[in-house]
Amino acid sequence: MPDLPEFIQYLYEEYRSLDSGSLASYIPELTKVNPNWFAISIITKEGEVFEVGDISENFTIQSISKVFVFGMALEDCGRQILLEKIGVEPTGDPFNSVIRLDENSKRPDNPMVNAGAIATAGLIKGSNPTDKLNRMLDMFRRYIGHDVYIDAPVFMSERATGHRNRALANLLLNFGIIDRNIEEILDLYFQQCSIVVNCHDLAVMAATLANRGINPINQDKAIEPCYVRDILSVMYTCGMYNYAGEWAYKVGIPAKSGVSGGIIAVIPDRAGIAVYSPLIDHRGNSIRGIKVFEALSEEFQLHLLDFPLEQCPFLDISHRDPIRRL
Ligand code: GLN
Repeated sequence: MPDLPEFIQYLYEEYRSLDSGSLASYIPELTKVNPNWFAISIITKEGEVFEVGDISENFTIQSISKVFVFGMALEDCGRQILLEKIGVEPTGDPFNSVIRLDENSKRPDNPMVNAGAIATAGLIKGSNPTDKLNRMLDMFRRYIGHDVYIDAPVFMSERATGHRNRALANLLLNFGIIDRNIEEILDLYFQQCSIVVNCHDLAVMAATLANRGINPINQDKAIEPCYVRDILSVMYTCGMYNYAGEWAYKVGIPAKSGVSGGIIAVIPDRAGIAVYSPLIDHRGNSIRGIKVFEALSEEFQLHLLDFPLEQCPFLDISHRDPIRRL
């Protein structure tokens, strides 16, 4: 089994020339990034950091925010209310699909697709929009370990062009999932998507989930530990949209992608991993990101459902528990 720092350096060299995919242009402001940016960061629950590439380039978090706002809504409202409003079923549809919300369930299938995330934003508590936003920024600060801010041009760009999200919000109002303040709820959703992060920040956030909600760098508690299980479950089944099944099968760790090119993944009780490369496929997942995770999972046997090696005579037992050895 290779040395981890050497292996991520190798992955970086191997995939940096892979230039298929495109920038997410449906949010015009997202095309203003350098398509070559590429970074990998792994942070263990003990706070050890392994990283390579454009680690400190900033970008907006986009759909990766859904994971953390879902956790916040769980803390604000509890499991029961959330389940009444938002399901936990993978859709097999694109992240911004309107169809199933209208045809089938009348409630969003899960909090990782846009319909569910807008409904989740509608559940965040606060006395007024500023209070809700400030609570949300504070939640992200606890996960990341420093103050966070919103990329105003990206926020304005999403707000000006987010017609599908507006359509979803109107349907959610029609089905009684959110209240009348559609523009206020959409603003909060667009703001959460426009929070500025870098690849290192994302790995710290993932490592915080891996460490049962405690930020492994500064020991701050970001979320009640009892809800980490809820978050990881929906990440595992729904985090990669209509690629979630293949991801669970091949990579086998809870993950979440965003259209700006980030992917986070959580190895419970071990480490958080983040990859950033803004060239995405037609499903909205980073192409280099998927390659890197496939290779990491294969090489270090990270698949959570891997057959116990003790019972598998073909595999060497010493290859077990790679991240513990980091
Ligand atoms: N802000 C984006 C949207 O609502 C997030 C989508 C994503 O990252 N998949 O369309």
